[in-house]
Amino acid sequence: MYQDVQLHIDGQWRAATGGGTIPVLNPATEEQIGTVPHATQADMDEALAAAERGFAVWKKVSAFDRSKLMRKAAELLRERADKIARLMTLEQGKPLPEAKMEVLAGADIIDWFAEEARRAYGRVIPARAEGVYQLVVKEPVGPVAAFTPWNFPINQVVRKLSAALATGCSIIVKAPEETPASPAELIRCFLDVGLPKGVVGLLYGVPAEISSYLIPHPTIKKVTFTGSTPVGKHLAELSGKYMKRATMELGGHAPAIVFEDADIEHAAKTLATSKFRNAGQVCVSPTRFLVHEKAFDQFVDTFTSYAKSLKVGNGLEDGTQMGPLANDRRIPAMETLISDASQKGAEIRTGGSRIGNKGYFFEPTVITGLTREMRAMNEEPFGPLALMVPFKEFDEVVEESNRLPFGLAAYAFTRSAKTANAIASQVETGMMTINHLGLALPEVPFGGTKDSGYGSEGGSEAIEAYLITKFVTQAGL
Ligand code: NAD
Repeated sequence: MYQDVQLHIDGQWRAATGGGTIPVLNPATEEQIGTVPHATQADMDEALAAAERGFAVWKKVSAFDRSKLMRKAAELLRERADKIARLMTLEQGKPLPEAKMEVLAGADIIDWFAEEARRAYGRVIPARAEGVYQLVVKEPVGPVAAFTPWNFPINQVVRKLSAALATGCSIIVKAPEETPASPAELIRCFLDVGLPKGVVGLLYGVPAEISSYLIPHPTIKKVTFTGSTPVGKHLAELSGKYMKRATMELGGHAPAIVFEDADIEHAAKTLATSKFRNAGQVCVSPTRFLVHEKAFDQFVDTFTSYAKSLKVGNGLEDGTQMGPLANDRRIPAMETLISDASQKGAEIRTGGSRIGNKGYFFEPTVITGLTREMRAMNEEPFGPLALMVPFKEFDEVVEESNRLPFGLAAYAFTRSAKTANAIASQVETGMMTINHLGLALPEVPFGGTKDSGYGSEGGSEAIEAYLITKFVTQAGL
């Protein structure tokens, strides 16, 4: 069922000029399941010219009509969810129910942006002189270049695509080469309901070749990237050099703080579910579990039992709770952090190793006895690795939470409203969820601070990022 993926340029699905391709592997079997084209500079030039023409057409379509078309695309995405979820599991590895949930959540994101952008109002500012009108007008920023990663092949595209289309921008998506088919099918839904040609382009290839060409190009007016902090800093620098608006959604190392007064069983089970979702390859994944010393043993025992009970396997098989890591790079990345910790005295409570030698399967891993000198305590693991650290005092846990340069997500569990308020105000983070898992809904902001980037991919803030503010003042004749 998996077919070779194509580029989409100026209304056409096609191969790359020159025919270059990149293999696509199934991470559960390591077998090649298809190919994706390697776009050339000629392809990028065509995509840019098409995006310019597409923008001229799309910005003139009313927000009301853009919204109607987007909601039709969302409906089609729902109808095709089973098929697209299978493609996602084949190329990315996550369990089929998780893939289907991602596709359906994508449809909700489209709906939300379609509705909200109809309310991207400007305002009228009372003037000092009679007969003068001062208007603040919102206009689409222009053609967008979007770079998205392989962990959530649909979700990472759909947030950028929906905000751009809803506001009247055209967009060129550089989707992930490792997981290309499911984002291509997302884009097909928009084309099948009549999105004018040139409004959306889809490229694959060598990421650095594409970003270094698109970002400086005068056609592109806005850059949006999701991925690692080092790459984000590089792209932010390039965007700054050419004065392009940019949104950067980068890495994290989320603290999950569990106070003594919390429901410990509930906290451990809730956080463990979150930790191992998508095999931990989630930018907001809880990573440092900072647990009050009086609750530490109970928390670690409950969490570890959950980790041991997980069924790891091929995401297409019934009952699989955690799939393989998404690509071969993640195996040495995990092994390096774990062996470093273990050599420096940490204790592996469960897991720690690759499973078998076919497919990128890795054991759900829980570690205690950690110190700040260990790499895992400083670098984003982006895998199924849970680090358990006890604390005594409130100030101590705040200091540990804020120690790293990251500031994307944070979690806390407590029964005290006073503690909840204090921790929410003192942790340096873009998002904080207390006593439940409440991040990433379309209507709420999604983004980080510090080295985790800037800008938001959710809520009305996400729409603002695709609009320019124009001021018009007019005196009556
Ligand atoms: P990487 O740092 O090489 O790439 C991260 C992402 O950036 C990939 O999607 C890649 O295609 C893209 N990329 C890389 N260089 C680029 C360039 N010059 N221009 C445009 N895009 C570029 O690492 P990787 O092995 O793919 O992923 C590992 C790390 O990336 C993880 O440890 C994690 O920190 C981060 N990551 C974060 C997210 C997220 O949701 N924030 C998603 C995927 C990966």
